Amino acid sequence: MMRMGMLAVAMAALAGAVKAQEAPRWSLAIHGGAGVIERANLSPEQDAAYRAALTRALEAGSAVLRSGGEALDAIQAAIEIMEDDPLFNAGRGAVFTAEGKTELDAAVMNGADLTAGAAAGLTRTRHPIAAARAIMEQSPHVMLIGEGADAFSASVGLEQVDPAFFFTERRWQGLERQLRERGDPIPTRPEGASAAGQGLASLPQPPLNERKFGTVGAVALDQSGNLAAGTSTGGMSGKRWGRVGDVPVIGAGTYASNTDGCAVSATGDGEYFIRATVARDICARMASGASGQVAGQAEVDEALALGGSGGVIVMSRDGQPAYAMTTSGMYRGAASSSEPARVAIYADEDARP
Ligand code: ASP
Repeated sequence: MMRMGMLAVAMAALAGAVKAQEAPRWSLAIHGGAGVIERANLSPEQDAAYRAALTRALEAGSAVLRSGGEALDAIQAAIEIMEDDPLFNAGRGAVFTAEGKTELDAAVMNGADLTAGAAAGLTRTRHPIAAARAIMEQSPHVMLIGEGADAFSASVGLEQVDPAFFFTERRWQGLERQLRERGDPIPTRPEGASAAGQGLASLPQPPLNERKFGTVGAVALDQSGNLAAGTSTGGMSGKRWGRVGDVPVIGAGTYASNTDGCAVSATGDGEYFIRATVARDICARMASGASGQVAGQAEVDEALALGGSGGVIVMSRDGQPAYAMTTSGMYRGAASSSEPARVAIYADEDARP
């Protein structure tokens, strides 16, 4: 009897372990940028505000996936929340160019059929990720830039805003400080900036030492087994000459492929991510059998040996999220059908469900 009882307990434990290892039906991971993010640099209010913002984005994306929605809709929902949040360097709250303008880049990729859409240098489209999606689904092209990209977005009914909508005081102060250090002239504030900034004054602001971090991204696996990736950013503070980073370059900052079994969104010094084709290479490594964690870390280490710093989020076809970074922190989080939302900021925290 005794032995039977122990056997039953052992079998129950085994069943539990097997259940815990079952692949989730859906899974989502997000990031809000990587960089020198240390406990000493974030006030308790800022720390809490970032965690709350990441949780809101995860909830929006999870709601789509839980109800059987598409990976593409989930990443868009999560990213739009972060684009509207002044804490992140995407949409409202984005960094400024050296001329004091906001120029937004975004990309999206559908792992099911390798369709992709990207926009660079948007100045009026409220949700750059929606523009990237529309370019993918409603235009014959993959990438549109500048005025033409905004005009296309408007033509398909995407919300257009006055550029002052994107303005935040903290990012402006960051730009002024950076330009002073460089010995470059300080541009005049965008028209309507103070009115736009005032409404945000009571909200938690990103730390002032944060000159470029806060790009946002999401990767997801939906219940149909499809993978998708998306990324959105204001790029690098003080950028000049129409600079475009890795985010809208498919295969550099963003990539997804059901066949390879991966979806990737990157953040960091874009010039290096472009040269190392980071997102595509991670997928190639995974197609050859590497886990998301191993592929992501190996690629980030190798790519960033060229220079710069940053990180990636990776989703595998079995719904396992992975994070890899060379920085002391990355705003990030994950949720799945088998685990509740979990968020993390510092490199030494575990955000995997
Ligand atoms: N990768 C972005 C860019 O280079 C910036 C970032 O992720 O912080 O535009």
